[in-house]
Amino acid sequence: MSYVDEVLEKVKQKNPDQPEFLQAVTEVLNSLRPVVEANEEKYRKLAILERITEPDRQIMFRVPWVDDNGQVQVNRGFRVQFNNAIGPYKGGIRLHPSVNLSIIKFLGFEQVFKNSLTTLPIGGGKGGSDFDPKGKSDNEIMHFCQSFMTELYKYIGADTDVPAGDIGTGAREIGFMFGQYKRIRDLYEGVLTGKGLSYGGSLARTEATGYGLLYLTQELMKCHGESMEGKTVAISGSGNVATYAAQKAQQMGAKVVTLSDSTGWIYDPEGIDIELLKEVKEVKRARLSEYAAARSSAEYHDKKNADDHGVWNIKVDIALPCATQNELNLDDAKALVANGVKAVCEGANMPTTIEATEYLQQNGVWFVGGKAANAGGVATSALEMSQNSERLSWSFEEVDQKLKGIMVGIYHAIDDAAKKYGMEGNYVAGANIAGFEKVVNAMIAQGVV
Ligand code: NDP
Repeated sequence: MSYVDEVLEKVKQKNPDQPEFLQAVTEVLNSLRPVVEANEEKYRKLAILERITEPDRQIMFRVPWVDDNGQVQVNRGFRVQFNNAIGPYKGGIRLHPSVNLSIIKFLGFEQVFKNSLTTLPIGGGKGGSDFDPKGKSDNEIMHFCQSFMTELYKYIGADTDVPAGDIGTGAREIGFMFGQYKRIRDLYEGVLTGKGLSYGGSLARTEATGYGLLYLTQELMKCHGESMEGKTVAISGSGNVATYAAQKAQQMGAKVVTLSDSTGWIYDPEGIDIELLKEVKEVKRARLSEYAAARSSAEYHDKKNADDHGVWNIKVDIALPCATQNELNLDDAKALVANGVKAVCEGANMPTTIEATEYLQQNGVWFVGGKAANAGGVATSALEMSQNSERLSWSFEEVDQKLKGIMVGIYHAIDDAAKKYGMEGNYVAGANIAGFEKVVNAMIAQGVV
């Protein structure tokens, strides 16, 4: 049995109840086969694949807090510190009722390779809780965040582990968590990224993931002799990544015609009104149906069931899934291909199922996975860490220019890695290989730890 198959078997036996984690490991290890085969004896002896698929540590804890009615609520908190071979652990905090150990482990595992791809010195980790911020008052959010940090602070630090935002964790939540960390540790340090501008945040961090996704997509199009100008784009989600992806796509001359949230989706053939979107989502924190109610060109569709991903049935040139994992399945991929889609780039983490990814690749769609395409967020978080260490703040333009350079660099790194191993155009394999090689070289140099 090949080394990859042996390790896949072991990982399945050890984690039978973690489907998302197994999905991520299967996808990554399968695409690493050419590199592993070229180094099989050495990697097997050093147990490289066993070590890279086992987190350094996983922390789970109780998060008790009191709601506005005086009722005590209890959530479960997580931090998975996956690999710090090339820098302190870095990865977001997800607050969503679906959060469990499998999801946090899959995200932490992917983060290792993504962070490596940015070329910046950051290891991989992820955290979160099954807490649902929807419908909670500011007071309840603060109580939850303070309780969460009262345990988490023991394991993090500016040179140890630097969490950031993710689904359900925006500037408000990061602010409450930062305040509690500072209070408990009596230490003003860059322990979290995504902070407010008045207390150590970086300009352009809010926009970074969405903007970065578009910088990479633009480079991909350019290298295939195309431009963004005049292209029609489908985006899913309507949170941080989706909003700024839509904004940058339109600045580049494309027309974004869809968005979604967990209850429904919109089709706006005139192109999304970004200001209205921000008003509905960022100011009112309302549902997308309110966008459609305020704009005559937009149609709102209720989501019929968990498998209703209506946005992928619209005819577009480019599709950018920016909501959550496994939101683009094989049927969606077939609909996109039938409608002539040219490129699919993932703003979210693992939004495309393995079958859908394969179908898109087999049908000549230029497909770039989240590890490369959404790395702009964490790259800019690392730039926030640099600014905190220097105790300086860079201008929006300076951060944005660096972000653009990093995303263009990532596109070429994954393209080159795919070509080097005879898989030209397979950007998924290219991203995994480019990210993996750097981490493995650092692990080998640091001995058996
Ligand atoms: P937000 O919480 O700001 O937005 C998430 C969006 O996705 C919302 O529109 C939400 O709808 C929708 N969504 C979430 N869960 C589901 C679900 N189970 N079914 C359908 N829709 C859902 O998160 P972000 O925009 O920050 O993150 C989106 C994705 O991008 C995630 O996969 C995240 O891990 C990834 N990512 C984010 C980065 C960042 O910098 N923010 C960096 C790199 C990756 P609703 O409001 O109804 O829940």
